[in-house]
Amino acid sequence: MHESCPRTVDISAYLDHEQSAVERARLQSHLATCPQCGAMLAGLRGLRDELRELPEETLGFDLSEVIRGRLAATARPRPAPSPRRRWFEFVPMGLGAGAALSLGLFIGTGLTAGSAGVVAPRVAALAVFDPVAPGSLCAGAEACFARPAANPGGAR
Ligand SMILES: [Zn+2]
Repeated sequence: MHESCPRTVDISAYLDHEQSAVERARLQSHLATCPQCGAMLAGLRGLRDELRELPEETLGFDLSEVIRGRLAATARPRPAPSPRRRWFEFVPMGLGAGAALSLGLFIGTGLTAGSAGVVAPRVAALAVFDPVAPGSLCAGAEACFARPAANPGGAR
């Protein structure tokens, strides 16, 4: 075969009449002059004819029923769709959300209301941030007294 020879796929397409008239005419002129491509065409034609002569086999039964039966035997049952939730199933979640929101508002108000003159709730809310927990013993004299910069409300 030469570099100008068509590919085997093209010769097969020529054999099956799958090309345009222009391509077919061009290939036909090449096949008439090239003995190697002519031999390829003859070989493909012989193979096609031999394949056509093969006996047609039949199973004698419906294979699809066998496959369906095997699929049904191996298939896992589908999970049941989740039942629709009723309104009272959301009550605990709503109560929790309400409690969390109330606590957040309470703490947020205590932390941000310092300039409004509400000192006592602010100090009580900030007690959790003190270096020494309320009611615990002091490890040293410095530990119980916060520095003035850290605690503008005064030492306790
Ligand atoms: Zn050729």
